[in-house]
Order: sequence, then structure tokens, then C-alpha cells
Amino acid sequence: MDLHEYQAKEILRGAEIPVPPGKVAESPGEAEALAGEYGGRVVVKAQVHTGGRGKAGGVKLADSPGEAREHADAILGMEIKGHRVRTVLVTPAEEIAGEAYVGVLMDRGARAPVFMVSSEGGVDIEEVARETPEKIRKLEVDPRYGLLPHQAYWLAASLYDAPGLIKQASKIISRLYRAYEDAGASMVEINPLIDTPDGVLKAIDAKMTIDDNELFRRPDVAGYRDTSAEPWAETKARQAGLSYVKLDGDVGCCVNGAGLAMATMDLVKYYGGEPANFLDIGGSSSPEKVVAALEIITSDPNVKVILFNIFGGITRCDDVANGIVEAIQSIDIDLPLVIRLTGTNEEEAVEILEDAGLSAATSMDEVVQRAVETAGTG
Ligand code: GDP
Ligand code: MN
Repeated sequence: MDLHEYQAKEILRGAEIPVPPGKVAESPGEAEALAGEYGGRVVVKAQVHTGGRGKAGGVKLADSPGEAREHADAILGMEIKGHRVRTVLVTPAEEIAGEAYVGVLMDRGARAPVFMVSSEGGVDIEEVARETPEKIRKLEVDPRYGLLPHQAYWLAASLYDAPGLIKQASKIISRLYRAYEDAGASMVEINPLIDTPDGVLKAIDAKMTIDDNELFRRPDVAGYRDTSAEPWAETKARQAGLSYVKLDGDVGCCVNGAGLAMATMDLVKYYGGEPANFLDIGGSSSPEKVVAALEIITSDPNVKVILFNIFGGITRCDDVANGIVEAIQSIDIDLPLVIRLTGTNEEEAVEILEDAGLSAATSMDEVVQRAVETAGTG
């Protein structure tokens, strides 16, 4: 789950990392009032789940409340990399002497959290990594011990020469690691971490992603979820208890069990097709789940055919069949359905489908080939 900048900053403030004040506004008038509170010179910043807002025109410096209002008016409603801006953060403008990058993320390859810091902050860190990798210092953290003080110091020392700045950075880096762990994050970054002309470090931008599996035991962090900023299909899937990942192909897949779902996608590719999604309707499937699954799959305009692959164990094939029939009665599905059902209550399922004018096969190989062919001609 991605957090907005203002939310990530709240967490960092809680971890005693120096972050300038700031409040969110939903209208130009609110932004103007906030700018007044902060003395006029402020930055108005789009709150969206993506970086690169500055380049896209979503971060603007204002010299007066009136100007803040104008900027908010321009930024609110703007679309940045497919994300609609619904709120802006208004924060006092800072004097910048230098910009650094400090981040930690779970590196699955290393099976450890990895710190990355660079004195080349502010800009796109991927670009720094590509063109001048020597300007990034990396450190794998052993999660059993956490980030040790000398390691924090070693990272900080690559950012600055002045002992005062190194000391501040080292504290910030240690606290950032604690914030990362405490929030159940998989990524947190400060970019830029600025130093002011009078030698003070401040985090003026923050990004954070929370590991979804950490949310159940952190209701406070889970409360940061902003469903209006998430793709509709993801929210719907989560609420219905489905695992759904959108992909770029045209064969919509509705499968029970993650392993079978992966195998189905592999077979779609094997026959020259491209899956439109990963979707696991779960172990025990109610008709409601199947209806939700079909709503989600059909909301993707790329989908040309819907492939069901159900292996009935705990999942009952008749439940799935009832869901399919309910769905085609309640939502307009003008896409071909290719259905494979086998296992628990298979006969009942076939009867339910046939009564509704549908058919089902038992061979996975056969239906996947048929689905790929159908997508090709559709
Ligand atoms: P991003 O583009 O989404 O990463 O948004 P940032 O918050 O990092 O802002 C982009 C850039 O705007 C920063 O790297 C700064 O150079 C500049 N910026 C942001 N806030 C301030 C500020 O308070 N004062 C000044 N002078 N520049 C700022
Ligand atoms: Mn940034």
C-alpha cells in the first residue's frame, strides 16, 4: 500500500526525523488560507501515489497566499502519470543549499533491507544509479541486529564532509530504519533530504510503501489507505477477498488457487496468448466472489475472452457455476466465456451452466487453447 507524501511525513515526524510542517488542502481557498498561516512563502505539492511530481508541474513555489491559491487551482484535478490530484500539501518553502537521497527498501534478491544513500539527491535516483553508480552508497541490513550506529555513520559520511551534517544525517538514517520497521514498510525514501544554508538537515519529500501483509496488526497505518487514489479494480478485489493483479494481455483469467492461477497463465503464454490478469478467487468460493471477479475482469477494456479454470476441492464447482450465471444475469457481459470445471460437484455445475446456455469442459489444456484462439479472433 502506497502512502501519500503528507502521510509518510507524519510517520517520519513521529520517528523524530526533522520534517517541515505542512497541511493538506482540497480547494484553492484552503490552500490560500494555509499559505497565510505559514507566512506566504510556501510550496504547493500534488498528493498522488507517484514520484516525479516536480517535473510534471505538480510542485510549485508560491510567494504569497494568492499565488498559492493559483498554484492549487492549477494542480488540483491535474493528472500525473495516470493519477488524478485530489489534494495538495501546503508547506513552508525551505532554503536549499544541497539535496541528498536517503532510502531503504526490502531487496528480495538480497533477502534483506538495503539502504541506499547518495549526495546526488533531488533528481531521479534511478538515473543516478544508471549513470553514476559510484555516487550511491549501499548497505544491506541484517534484520536480526537492525542498523548499527557505525553503519549509520558510514552511510552518513558518504553524504557530507562537515561533521555537524554527518552527525545529523547519521541520526536521521538510524531513525529512518526504525520508522521503516515500525510501520511495516517495504520502502521508504527521503528525496531530497536538504541541508539549509545554516547547516540544518530536513526531509522535504518522503515516499513510503507499506507491506500489505503488515497491515492487519497496524490499524493506525492501515487507516492511511486512500481508496480514491487506488485503481478501482484493486479496491474491489481486496474488499471481495480476491487476489488480483492486472497485466497487459487480453485473456481474462478467473482461477481458484494461486498455484493453479500461475499455471494457467503459463499455459496461456505457452499457446501464444497473453493473460490480462492474475486472479485467485480463493479456496472456498461463494457465488458473490465470482460475480465480483467477473466485474473486475470485465472492467479491463483489453479483455477479449474470459477463461475460468476451477479445480473443485474445497471450492465447489456448483458455487462457481451459480456465480457465473448470477453474474451474466446481473452485469452485461458480452465477452465469450470459456469454462473448465472439474472436481467437487462438477455434475451439478455442468447442469447449472447448461440450463443457462453455457458449457464447460474438463480439460485445462483444451480450454486454454480455445481461450487463446478466441482472443486472437476477437
Ligand atoms: P517529486 O518531484 O515528486 O520528487 O517532489 P519533491 O517534493 O521532491 O519536489 C521536487 C523538487 O522541488 C525538489 O527536489 C526541490 O528541488 C524542489 N522543492 C520542493 N520543496 C521545496 C522547497 O520547500 N523549497 C525549494 N526551494 N524547493 C523545493
Ligand atoms: Mn522527491
